[in-house]
Amino acid sequence: MKSIILREGREKSLRRRHPWIFSGAIARVEGDPKSGETVEIKSAAGEWLARGSYSPRSQITVRVWTFNAAEEIGPEFFRARLGIALESRGLLGSAASFDRPHPADEGAQSALRLVNAESDGLPGIIVDRYAEFLVIQLLTTGAEYWRKALVSELERTLAPAGMYERSDVDVREKEGLEKRSGVLAGGEPPDLLEIREGPCRFLVDLKRGHKTGFYLDQRENRALMPEYAAEAEVLNCFSYTGGFGVAALKARAARVTNLDSSAQVLDLARRNFDLNGLDQSKVEYVAGDAFAVLREWRDAERRFDLVILDPPKFVESTSQLTRASRGYKDINLLAFKLLRRGGVLFTFSCSGLMSPELFQKIVADAALDAGREARIIRRLSQAADHPTGLSFPEASYLKGLVCKVAV
Ligand code: SAH
Repeated sequence: MKSIILREGREKSLRRRHPWIFSGAIARVEGDPKSGETVEIKSAAGEWLARGSYSPRSQITVRVWTFNAAEEIGPEFFRARLGIALESRGLLGSAASFDRPHPADEGAQSALRLVNAESDGLPGIIVDRYAEFLVIQLLTTGAEYWRKALVSELERTLAPAGMYERSDVDVREKEGLEKRSGVLAGGEPPDLLEIREGPCRFLVDLKRGHKTGFYLDQRENRALMPEYAAEAEVLNCFSYTGGFGVAALKARAARVTNLDSSAQVLDLARRNFDLNGLDQSKVEYVAGDAFAVLREWRDAERRFDLVILDPPKFVESTSQLTRASRGYKDINLLAFKLLRRGGVLFTFSCSGLMSPELFQKIVADAALDAGREARIIRRLSQAADHPTGLSFPEASYLKGLVCKVAV
């Protein structure tokens, strides 16, 4: 039998159902498992604890598939887990069909995360639905090992028009896997695919866009725009393809300024404002480094009523935390300077390694240094289709504060 035996006392996190086993917790490996293969996990005393996938090159040497001894890992296991993930999103049976939502249905979403890795009991596996297409990421050796079974289960359950792989992410290298992307099944998605998000529509580049094409995790936060954007002059900083900005102008903002370092994403942003029938004379697109541009605007005394700050992940490892904190502080300080009295700041951090407490402290320091008095009026996180397993708190990465500037 292929097994890993833990060191004395190292089974505690497993008993709490945390799904990761680090290399340092392992006393020995028996039966010469191959990369990605399923191994039995046992305590030092020989007690069976769980079954997981083996990843010899990674610091996370085993990821648990199941804590139930009766559950074998194979196509049926993936069918069952996928069923639970869909059921929890209200998508079983006919609701899983890929019909486009009715145009009159303002609340409809046609893009959704269907499988959120560890938090859906499927470590290393991300499945996002974009209208009638699926985009998947296989991030670990275990996910890679079961690639065929997964693809055929997804086809059988969801019958998408096509399935596209976006495993072109750095984390695969830690597993000793090459980056991969391309068509997995069915037809190739168009270069730009239209999705609906409540009252908004967006063109998404599934093949080359960030993540799997769109920041689905921010959906519920973009949906808050109607509460804050009416009549406002809005700065959508780190705009990507326009997400918050489109939602804000749809919600009758006075003006929207989209700022991003990539001219390419701003081109797509422009198309997204058009797609929503919005008045381009109220929209500005600025390609540049947010840190430099915001400083210029501070010096020029430009002002906004609503600022959205959704920077990329500044922290990749704990050693970068101090430098990243400075980055968050600078950008938030500038944002506070640009806000009018009574203005609102939506500020985010998607760095999992930055705790909500530290983030709040940084934002507080930024307000203080900017000479502004502000209050938190709302706390935000990732959308409900990006759940966090209770035994896997690492999955909570996105945090946001809505701050109202009093003075
Ligand atoms: N809020 C967006 C997602 C933002 S992703 C949405 O809802 O869709 C972060 C964006 O920041 C990316 O588009 C990236 O191009 C941009 N970016 C990264 N570094 C930047 C910098 N220094 N200045 C401006 N934009 C930057």
